[in-house]
Amino acid sequence: MNDQTKPILYWLRRDLRLSDNPALDWAAEQGRPVIPVFLHDEVTEDWGAAPRWRVGLGLAAHADALESLGSRLILRRGEALATLRALIAETGADTVVWNRLYVANERARDEGVEAGLTDDGVTVKTFQSHVLFEPWKVQTGAGSYYKVYTPFWKAVRDRDPGPPISAPSELPAPSDWPETETLAEWKLGHDMRRGIDVVARYAHVGEETAQARLATFIEEKLEDYARARDMLAEDGTSGLSENLTYGEISARACWAAGQRAMQEGRSGAETFLREIVWRDFAHHLAWHTPRLTTSNWRKEWDAFPWQGDNEKAEAWRRGCTGLDVVDAAMREIYVTGRMHNRARMLVASYLTKHLMTHWRVGCDWFGDVLIDWDPANNAMGWQWAAGSGPDASPFFRIFNPETQARKFDPKGRYRDRWLESEEFYEAVPEGWHMTKGADRPDTPIVGLKEGREAALDAYRQRGDG
Ligand code: FAD
Repeated sequence: MNDQTKPILYWLRRDLRLSDNPALDWAAEQGRPVIPVFLHDEVTEDWGAAPRWRVGLGLAAHADALESLGSRLILRRGEALATLRALIAETGADTVVWNRLYVANERARDEGVEAGLTDDGVTVKTFQSHVLFEPWKVQTGAGSYYKVYTPFWKAVRDRDPGPPISAPSELPAPSDWPETETLAEWKLGHDMRRGIDVVARYAHVGEETAQARLATFIEEKLEDYARARDMLAEDGTSGLSENLTYGEISARACWAAGQRAMQEGRSGAETFLREIVWRDFAHHLAWHTPRLTTSNWRKEWDAFPWQGDNEKAEAWRRGCTGLDVVDAAMREIYVTGRMHNRARMLVASYLTKHLMTHWRVGCDWFGDVLIDWDPANNAMGWQWAAGSGPDASPFFRIFNPETQARKFDPKGRYRDRWLESEEFYEAVPEGWHMTKGADRPDTPIVGLKEGREAALDAYRQRGDG
């Protein structure tokens, strides 16, 4: 039995929201003081430049939301277990709560924290919130995990993750608040070599914004979503990935909105639900096979002659491959911190196949520049494109970026927008020495035919071709 006067520490991570937040809800219902805390710890220290900067925006917005409930957000930097122990000693808290995460490094940290605090006699309570269905609760008939998406989808599509829960109406405050560090001290934007002001134009931050985005998407874009989501120049998707990754909206809220639309017979609703389930699938794979985020899921790819980082990969990063749609996409990601889903597939295919560069090189670049970076979705996407993942596009199926551009950007609007982008040159760091018009080669650094043949040769020599 916990002492009713002792505070509860609520450790926020990828759940920067008040509504549909089971850990926060439980803490609020205990009638005890609640201290919300975010740690800049061993996991977040490892994040790339854009995710670190973007989480800072999310934290600022969420601190305001907590203040509207009479609460505060306490910020501390340091190794998670030691920092929580220090906070417990300062505040007299005897309970720590959080919402569970599933990717290897987050999981290892959380397991260590739980074991350490439990040894100290602190009560630890953890909750499900980041995904619709926890990885171990979705099993094949043989009691194993799913490696292929479609059967996974069939296994979950009729399940009910339950209704989203409301935000607490108040959060009891402690009589004394512990000291907090500040976001300014953390300098989370420090490594953003590109203009923060440019990328900031494209960020949609916070819970209220996320909820409004979901509502607008369902109202205005759902009908045409199944078609428009593939068109490079159209704003046909929800844009919610940056909010989902920081938990500014829950997957369950998206699911509930999609289900309501399904019941109303709205076209596009099932496609949207399927996409939300892709996110669950990525977390399912990351939990069951932690190597998803770090190494080839299929071990036989370890011997494949992919190159490590190299000059051609650098040209790819800067949008200077000489292939219009690839360069346009690489410029889009640099300016906006986002990239169209189809473009992600194209640039990943070009890097891993035509340029024969390891998917990790691209995966790391995305991890540095995406404001919607999600470790599970990103790694699954890269392993899919490279052919090394569980449910992967076969290596020999090599996207032709030009054919794809004709199909998904028929008027060349996407290409023109990003190749002609003034914002890109605003964002380019000095060290890149790039000037408009003079930077892209006239012919591709690796031609489509030549790259395709080299990739297929390497694939055949590997023995599976
Ligand atoms: P919508 O079409 O509106 O979809 C709604 C939500 O469903 C998304 O917000 C996302 O949470 C989920 N979703 C959609 N497609 C996928 C998918 N293929 N895999 C997993 N979840 C999906 N997504 C990220 O959130 N973060 C990443 O770091 C990321 N990296 C990727 C890297 C590669 C190489 C590839 C091929 C895909 C990657 N994706 C990633 C998946 C996908 O491109 C984005 O989720 C999508 O473009 C986000 O736009 P949206 O929110 O408008 O999506």
